[in-house]
Amino acid sequence: MSPKNQPISGNDLARFSGPGTFMRLPGSNELHKLDVAVLGVPMDIGTSWRSGTRFGPKQVRNESAMIRPYNLATGAAPFDSLQVADIGDLAINTFSLADSLRIIAESYEAILQYDAVPMAIGGDHSITLPILRSMAKRHGPVALIHVDAHADVNDEMFGERETHGTVFRRAYEEGLIKPDKTYQIGLRGSGYSAEDFTEAAGWGFQQFPAHELWGRDLSTLGGEIRRDIGEGPTYITYDIDSLDPAFAPGTGTPEIGGLSSPQALQLIRALNGLNLVGCDLVEVSPPYDTSGNTALTGANILFELLCILPGVAYR
Ligand code: MN
Ligand code: MN
Repeated sequence: MSPKNQPISGNDLARFSGPGTFMRLPGSNELHKLDVAVLGVPMDIGTSWRSGTRFGPKQVRNESAMIRPYNLATGAAPFDSLQVADIGDLAINTFSLADSLRIIAESYEAILQYDAVPMAIGGDHSITLPILRSMAKRHGPVALIHVDAHADVNDEMFGERETHGTVFRRAYEEGLIKPDKTYQIGLRGSGYSAEDFTEAAGWGFQQFPAHELWGRDLSTLGGEIRRDIGEGPTYITYDIDSLDPAFAPGTGTPEIGGLSSPQALQLIRALNGLNLVGCDLVEVSPPYDTSGNTALTGANILFELLCILPGVAYR
């Protein structure tokens, strides 16, 4: 077996130098050689409040230089068995949301011709709709684990049907996801009506509001979701605002009373064993991230997701 790509060690080259790729992995555009393709979608024109997620991919990659290749808690050694590379950023059109979503879908269709699992660094949450369109073309409707303060099931925003707040209503309407295998975790905040979330529950979405999770170990919930999904193709979309602003302040639409960083790790680690076909980490907004901790947390969430992909070795 040929040696796999490895992140540059912080003991060989100072962490503050070297390539600006995720974990300082090699860059590559040879998709046929990859098991995992990390990519950036630098975009914030789908947001409704604070902007800045266009800088998310660059800053998440910067903070990822701190991460070492072995997961000491779980024993996962993803770079022992998976060929992982950073394939760069998608060339979105920063003057057109509609055109950007088209570019994302076309790019994903090209990526999904190969077997590489795409891991996207957003970008605002509107990027997930074209990703799911491409996923459904490739795999059929997918199970969806959606970690977020918001359900993102608005019908329209300013008359627009494709925004960061309408993604999962469109995904449901278009049959991109399995409604009874869709899990929304961390929902909270104020609403426009008392029924903001209940319509989606009627479609079959399983919702886990943050207040029901306060103080709980999320390993149990993660294990239940894993068993409920079983073998089917599954996509994870991780909105950083699912975390409490105390942990992740650098985001566009923060809501208090959210998940903790340890709960994020418990949840992801308990999902190990799923047939994951892709994932994303969205809504990191560096201009509001004065400490860099939001991007750092986002980078670590991506690493934890990498550690539960099918085929990961353990030590
Ligand atoms: Mn969202
Ligand atoms: Mn959100």
